[in-house]
Amino acid sequence: MGIPLPIHISIHVILSLIAGMIVWRIWKKPAAAFLNALISGVAVDFDHFIDYFMAFGWSFNFYYFTKGYEFLKTNKMYTLFHGWEYAAILFLAVFLLKNKTAKTALLALALGLFFHLGADVVIDKIPVKSYSIINKIGKNFEMQKLVTPEHWQKHEKKRERLKFE
Ligand SMILES: [Zn+2]
Repeated sequence: MGIPLPIHISIHVILSLIAGMIVWRIWKKPAAAFLNALISGVAVDFDHFIDYFMAFGWSFNFYYFTKGYEFLKTNKMYTLFHGWEYAAILFLAVFLLKNKTAKTALLALALGLFFHLGADVVIDKIPVKSYSIINKIGKNFEMQKLVTPEHWQKHEKKRERLKFE
């Protein structure tokens, strides 16, 4: 991960606020727009706890977590909420509902997630198709098959240094 974590998170917050603003302008429901955009645009990263748990169980180490050591330990990338498919489903669901608050919530969730995944793809240089949940399942969540060769090389070097397993 190239940039410091606080900056990475700030980028997600800013993009979520932009997503919230866009949706607010459509149906004029600011609370539902911003809240849902922030949930999908920022809180989506809570799925890292699942990756962490798979690697280290309940013994939580904040440093390990912020450094992404869970990926080094397991060589897997679950990140189960990071999937374009969810954004697409949420987006399509917007057209099925009539209620403005519900439409606002769904579009804000869809857009917030879409911006989040887009930012991760650019910042972390994650291949676009690696955030397809179907693709991840197909690759059995194996990092080597999901990240770029350069990313994998760095990963291997870090593994050697840290001597996980
Ligand atoms: Zn993310």
